[in-house]
Amino acid sequence: MEKISIILKKSKALTCPKCGQGAMFNGIVSLKNSCPNCSFIYKIGNKGWTGPALINSTATVVLVLFSTLVGLLVLRGNYAKFVVAGAILLGISLNFLLYRYAHSFWIYLLYFSKMDKV
Ligand SMILES: [Zn+2]
Repeated sequence: MEKISIILKKSKALTCPKCGQGAMFNGIVSLKNSCPNCSFIYKIGNKGWTGPALINSTATVVLVLFSTLVGLLVLRGNYAKFVVAGAILLGISLNFLLYRYAHSFWIYLLYFSKMDKV
């Protein structure tokens, strides 16, 4: 559990897990094949998208459900249609906002899990 919090902190930087220097992305959404600094390969297995997609979807669903429940409880059922509309907008936004961080978290997770086996 302690390692997960370390991985979460480090992966926020969106840099290489091996050297901590090379950027992971070209622009906003294009993941580089490897680190420009140390050549660590970022795209591992299945072209590297299934794990991040699972993380992104799970985080989005949890955050949207939580915020919807809080919104409905705070407003006591009034303005329910606005809470639902806000939840839909939040869900769409989070999918885009978390995209890079989900990729980074997944790559860090793979990197640190392989380091345990060595
Ligand atoms: Zn690197």
